[in-house]
Amino acid sequence: MQFLCCNVLWLVILLVGGLSKCLAQSCREAGLTQRQSPSSGYRCPVLPGEQGLLVAVRSGEKPLTNTERSLIRSGDTTQLLRVIQDTVADEARILRAVSDDIDPDEPLLPLLVKRMYLAVTDTLHPGVGIAAPQVGISRNVIWVKRFDKPGEPFERYLNPRITWRSKLLRKGQEGCLSIADTLGQVLRNYTIRLVYQDMEGVKHEELIEGFTAVIFQHEIDHLNGILFTDRIAEQVSQTYHQVNTEVPLYLEQRLRRQ
Ligand SMILES: [Zn+2]
Repeated sequence: MQFLCCNVLWLVILLVGGLSKCLAQSCREAGLTQRQSPSSGYRCPVLPGEQGLLVAVRSGEKPLTNTERSLIRSGDTTQLLRVIQDTVADEARILRAVSDDIDPDEPLLPLLVKRMYLAVTDTLHPGVGIAAPQVGISRNVIWVKRFDKPGEPFERYLNPRITWRSKLLRKGQEGCLSIADTLGQVLRNYTIRLVYQDMEGVKHEELIEGFTAVIFQHEIDHLNGILFTDRIAEQVSQTYHQVNTEVPLYLEQRLRRQ
């Protein structure tokens, strides 16, 4: 037991010593003086490279089911995937399910995103965004038309998460490719912070505002089994204060005095 305690003590000393050395080194790399080192109370903002994790951590990705594989393979890169509808019981069940993360290395991912793109840009039923559950695939993949970028390109996002939302809300009209002949006024957060992966699996973080932020919120709601009509229903029972009569910006009533 004593032997074990001694070993643990040495391990602690070695770890503390190593950590101090790493912090001091990284501070130097960041151009900070020794006086600004952690010992003076200053916290170096640069993480030591030696402590970086060298392997990717899988977090919740599930392989596609055989049914999903068959659906994706049901056509080639020139054929769109049909958009499922909330009026069909089996399809509504998929729209109401919570999606899983997708592995960026999934071999069928390029075919899935291409066929989703063809669906959202279909001239018969064009949209400004689409989520994988809308083509019957319960995986966290979306396309969003970036109205906030030059040329307004469609872009694809894997495993998107909203990590922050502004208290300021924006009211605007929405529709959905999966809910025919229905439009409604929805309040959405004016600004969001988004974390996502690209097709190479590289993580990105972005601050997005306005109508483009609305599209992201609508599509990420799909990944959680939430439709825009659900948002309208839940907002009916809330009270909001309009900030400005010219622009449809709102705050929840309880935030009015802040
Ligand atoms: Zn939709």
